[in-house]
Amino acid sequence: MTVLRPPTAERIIETRALTKRFTSSKGLFGGTVSVSAVNDVALDIRRGETFSIVGESGCGKSTLARLLVRLLPASEGAVLYEGNDISELSELEMRRLRKDLQFVFQDPFSSLNPRMTVGALIEEPIKVHTRLTRSERRRKVADLLKKVGLRPAFANRYPHEFSGGQRQRIGIARALASGPKVIVGDEPVSALDVSVQAQVINLLEDLKAEFDLTLILIAHDLAVIRHMSDRIAVMYLGEIVELAPNDALYDKPLHPYTQALMRAIPIASPHGRSMDVSLTGDVPSPLAPPFGCRFHPRCPHASDVCTTTRPPLAEAGARMVACHHWEKISASSPDIAREPPRSADAEKRFALFREKSQRQEPTTAGTTEKQTFREV
Ligand code: SF4
Repeated sequence: MTVLRPPTAERIIETRALTKRFTSSKGLFGGTVSVSAVNDVALDIRRGETFSIVGESGCGKSTLARLLVRLLPASEGAVLYEGNDISELSELEMRRLRKDLQFVFQDPFSSLNPRMTVGALIEEPIKVHTRLTRSERRRKVADLLKKVGLRPAFANRYPHEFSGGQRQRIGIARALASGPKVIVGDEPVSALDVSVQAQVINLLEDLKAEFDLTLILIAHDLAVIRHMSDRIAVMYLGEIVELAPNDALYDKPLHPYTQALMRAIPIASPHGRSMDVSLTGDVPSPLAPPFGCRFHPRCPHASDVCTTTRPPLAEAGARMVACHHWEKISASSPDIAREPPRSADAEKRFALFREKSQRQEPTTAGTTEKQTFREV
């Protein structure tokens, strides 16, 4: 499978030279400064895949996620959904398209109206996008609550009566209500406890298969999206620096920034980690990004050309990398030792555990997620 431009029929979302700039006033004496949060991004997202975008806080990944579903207008460039440029659509056309493109926010509490019951919150998009009768809508709400592992009786309660993980399940049920083709999750688990993160990730994986979804996930932690991504794009200061299939990226990251992110993943393995790349310095200000390669002030491999010439995101085998020296770096970087595969016995125990936990019925809103849902 190549990462390089899937065939047109397989692409569900494409971006072309996508750029988003924000301006703000400068000091007491006026004037404006422009910040390029997303700079010249070209991506093709394949129908049915899980595509993840990772990077440090402030790298522009959340802005990019919002641009993909036009929650923000682009400053330059285009976003194509099923071949049509969505920046050209009127508000009314865009409202119709919202049925297909849904968003799950990072903070499940602030994204749900506290004055609406859970039932009303999930029913709202069904009302807007379908012609179902009241009783059909109610049935659909009950069905969606069950799908996300919550009791249909919870429809009469309010968001504040639920735990963080349960609220995120409600957010996911609401996103599913219109029958979308694409769900964009902006750090959907980063506000949750670690034990709950795994449950919500598993839920997203299961729903993706059941509803034939394309998932676009935003994350700052490579460990979180490791097991569910088909392809991963790494962002640094508004630009994509590496785009690779999951295995290739985790086995042998090529861009020095990706290598540094990998080093930050804690692993419990006797094989350890053999890479020796550390980041120095702070992330430069996006108000004045460095010339040439934006990563050069922190890069241990930087040379003169890196300070003057921006490296294009170019083909590097079965992936794309924005680095002048990726071949040299690749030759000198050993593969990352991978976690040893689970034994057949362990796989069987894991499958049994999964099946058993799925059968457990949630009890009340006060029940902890750990007791109610499966844990991996
Ligand atoms: Fe480092 Fe130069 Fe590659 Fe940028 S282009 S990542 S500075 S080696």
